[in-house]
Amino acid sequence: MTAHLQSNLPALPISDANADFIGRARHHLIGGQWVPSASGATFATFDPATGDVLTHCAQGEAEDIDRAVKAARKAFESGPWKALTASERGRIIWKIGDLMLEHADELAELEALDNGKPRAVARAVDIPLSADAFHYMAGWATKITGQTMPVSVPYAPGARFHAYSLKEPVGVVGQIIPWNFPLLMAAWKLGPALAAGCTLVLKPAEQTPLTALRLGELMIEAGVPDGVVNIVTGDGESAGAPLAAHPDVDKVAFTGSNEVGKLILRAAAGNLKKVSLELGGKSPNVIFKDAPDLPAAIAGAANAVFFNHGQCCVAGTRLFVEQDVFDQVVEGVVETAAGIKLGPGLDDATEMGPLVSQEQLERVTGYLASGREDGADLLVGGGRQGDRGYFVQPTVITGTRPEMKVVREEIFGPVLVAEPFTDEADLVRRANDTTYGLAAAVWTNDVSRAHRVAAAYRAGTVWVNCYNVFDAALPFGGYKQSGWGREMSGEALDLYTETKAVVVGL
Ligand code: ADP
Repeated sequence: MTAHLQSNLPALPISDANADFIGRARHHLIGGQWVPSASGATFATFDPATGDVLTHCAQGEAEDIDRAVKAARKAFESGPWKALTASERGRIIWKIGDLMLEHADELAELEALDNGKPRAVARAVDIPLSADAFHYMAGWATKITGQTMPVSVPYAPGARFHAYSLKEPVGVVGQIIPWNFPLLMAAWKLGPALAAGCTLVLKPAEQTPLTALRLGELMIEAGVPDGVVNIVTGDGESAGAPLAAHPDVDKVAFTGSNEVGKLILRAAAGNLKKVSLELGGKSPNVIFKDAPDLPAAIAGAANAVFFNHGQCCVAGTRLFVEQDVFDQVVEGVVETAAGIKLGPGLDDATEMGPLVSQEQLERVTGYLASGREDGADLLVGGGRQGDRGYFVQPTVITGTRPEMKVVREEIFGPVLVAEPFTDEADLVRRANDTTYGLAAAVWTNDVSRAHRVAAAYRAGTVWVNCYNVFDAALPFGGYKQSGWGREMSGEALDLYTETKAVVVGL
């Protein structure tokens, strides 16, 4: 393929590999081939640090999704994928992880370019975690087992049976992912689906399609057979919706907003495909005055909300601090926020990059305006930084009331709401007073209290004296409206397998 689409290299230098990559025509991966959209349409992606067009990608539509689903179906029913042993499948998945590590610098830079996050953060966090997701799932390929059951069959006295269960791949899977951790979200979805023996169509977010496409190249290099992984780029309505609704897709896995999660559910109803959802959060982070190391808790509170510019579904956006240390903790977080260096992701001095898009910039600054209008106190930050790119200042808000939008709704930006508390039971009630249930944290030296509060939280992940600790071995997902199902860990395989009971008359 040769460069023929409009692309703008950023002002800061980038590697030749990535300059070449973003300069090339970006096509869909369908049936092992890189192909343009049936309509020939493309869409622009933007450099979040400048707002300039970065490059163009193929705009997937229903026809492209249909071709990709057909390729995935063919690969599922008859391709070489089915003929591979579990061990062979595992080795291919392992190789994907290896190739990601070999190309870690390049992938980190591409992620920084596309998403806006600091390159150093992508290199230290996103890439190793993504590679580890594949390495971890590679091991599961050979460990997906059924059981034998001692059956009694009370209405057939004297008859004897041998019964067992099989775990089989669910079939053709549609995977729709967001822009906040583009490569990591792809890895969380692809790893278990491949380990289970499924074939799939991945639809990356339209804001950040580049690393998924580069990953597609690496997957071909790793030996993933044609049609097993298909990647269709495009926006939610034109490419995501037909994938969620496609009658020959057996299961759809989605990570994104609650609004779209509900649309996915409705679309999936047509053929009753299986659905798993990882949705939003408004996570409570609670600091008791007996936290073992208050400076560490303060640093943890800042990290909980400002990591990835607050664009994390688990972000600790509601900070509850025991009254006696409230002022001290809030001062510490405000000081941290004021000292965070904003800049382009490609500048190695940058600690926080821009938000991902103009839409996010408007959404987050809209929430800041609503907090102000509602009479809350914005202690630091409070608005856009500069007039180029999508930068928003880290912000700390106090003086809120429970019904305010900044307290109730997911902002998905670097915005913290801090509230004092005095009583543990009341604190737990307030912490759980949200429609979400993705994550929660507690900082305390009292081991009984730590376990008591962890048990009382209605959330899928609880961190004690830490925050943002992720590992491929930890099941991840939401209570309440934060989602359905668990990703990562052995539990992720449940999302991609069917159980078949087999009974043999003896
Ligand atoms: P955000 O609001 O954080 O951008 P979204 O939930 O809108 O998150 O997007 C997450 C993913 O869902 C993206 O890949 C997006 O293209 C896709 N998406 C958006 N709308 C739809 C839809 N109606 N059907 C299927 N996928 C969609």
